Amino acid sequence: MPLICECSDSRCAEIVLVDLDTYRVERRHGLLTAPEHVVERGRVVRCDDGYWLHEAA
Ligand SMILES: [Zn+2]
Repeated sequence: MPLICECSDSRCAEIVLVDLDTYRVERRHGLLTAPEHVVERGRVVRCDDGYWLHEAA
């Protein structure tokens, strides 16, 4: 499913494609962004093909 990148760049409108199961599991843990996008005060906990998962530090 497509969702808008949740990085800290308010101008970012990149679409991240994740499957529904990934979304359900990962979304509980943190923010999903496009690869190499940054979340302020967050740390990357997973670099996957097509998305990165960030967790509040
Ligand atoms: Zn972004």
